[in-house]
Amino acid sequence: MSKTILVTPGDGVGPEVMAQAIRVIDWLKAHRGLDVTLETALVGGAAMDAEGAAISRETVARAKAADAVLFGSVGGPKWEKLGFDNRPEIAILTLRKELGLFANLRPAMVYDPLVDASTLKPEVVRGLDIMIVRESTGGIYFGEPRGVEILPNGVKRGVNTEVYDTIEIERVALVAFELAQKRDHRVTSVEKANVMESGLLWRETVTALASDYPDIALSHMYADNCAMQLARNPRQFDVIVTGNLFGDILSDLASMLTGSLGMLPSATLGAPDASGKRPSLYEPIHGSAPDIAGQGIANPIAQILSLAMLLRYSLNLEADAKRVEDAVVKALTDGARTRDLGGTLSTAQMGDAIIAALG
Ligand code: NAD
Repeated sequence: MSKTILVTPGDGVGPEVMAQAIRVIDWLKAHRGLDVTLETALVGGAAMDAEGAAISRETVARAKAADAVLFGSVGGPKWEKLGFDNRPEIAILTLRKELGLFANLRPAMVYDPLVDASTLKPEVVRGLDIMIVRESTGGIYFGEPRGVEILPNGVKRGVNTEVYDTIEIERVALVAFELAQKRDHRVTSVEKANVMESGLLWRETVTALASDYPDIALSHMYADNCAMQLARNPRQFDVIVTGNLFGDILSDLASMLTGSLGMLPSATLGAPDASGKRPSLYEPIHGSAPDIAGQGIANPIAQILSLAMLLRYSLNLEADAKRVEDAVVKALTDGARTRDLGGTLSTAQMGDAIIAALG
């Protein structure tokens, strides 16, 4: 049965790089029998302009009904004056909340042809392939109590609360264990169990769950040490699972090990329903790059690799996912480079190179 992908090109370079991902989908339809139906919807600033909100109720409903969402980037200076409550970024926050997308998957890979793009020495990052699984709907960003209060003595106090229950920990750890089963069978669970009770519960819960996964080697690491180890010897990791705050920081650190923002995809997954369908959203980690939007020079690789993740995790098409990833590596090996990678290719020419490498 045909699967439905809701495509939301977004703002800035979003539509430019999305056009190349759609060309890859069209190629897979023509040559590999990919059976998908594409729907499109406005999000972000484009939706503010046309529909009066960063995401309409109808688009949220269509995202829920779809098998996956392929999201472009949103935002830009044009909409900054609209204020905090009307930010284009509300589109992504709304989808995360409405679809219950609690597990954010951020791979950090270093491709051999780009090993010199990292600020770290080539011998430290060559062959790097790690996956950070960040809990994305709980923890200190959402915990109560929160706010700023004025104490009787006139001093102001800001409060946020780190809070996790066992259900939240188990479901994200489960995602990490299952991913590790398809990778190198190693999970590092990261918290601050030495100073935080919520970290202690995190550690106990992940340890208990690990008994269901005897094929996985589980280790634990404090978040500060993990930051240090990521910079010192990042290849020691396979899958890292952690909470919202530590994941936010560590995944940004890991992405910079690769040295190229235009290259990195991400996935955010929710819980599967009774039929096994899992809400999911795939997007590049970069933003709408207003400084280069409209020039046709953005690197489309992060968007195309986000599509590869969609094929793997939402459509279960491992061979096609691998084909897309291999085509990206082949294009790079053959010397294809957009300007961010030190080359001269346009967005469409990089798309051409990847499509040529597909078949
Ligand atoms: P950005 O990621 O858009 O850009 C940072 C730098 O990286 C810029 O110099 C840009 O030209 C470059 N860059 C980004 N993507 C590139 C690509 N594909 N190819 C080549 N170069 C690329 O971050 P920013 O400038 O901080 O944010 C711009 C806007 O994007 C803001 O409105 C921000 O809120 C929004 N944003 C959205 C998302 C999202 O939609 N999920 C994520 C991050 C930022």
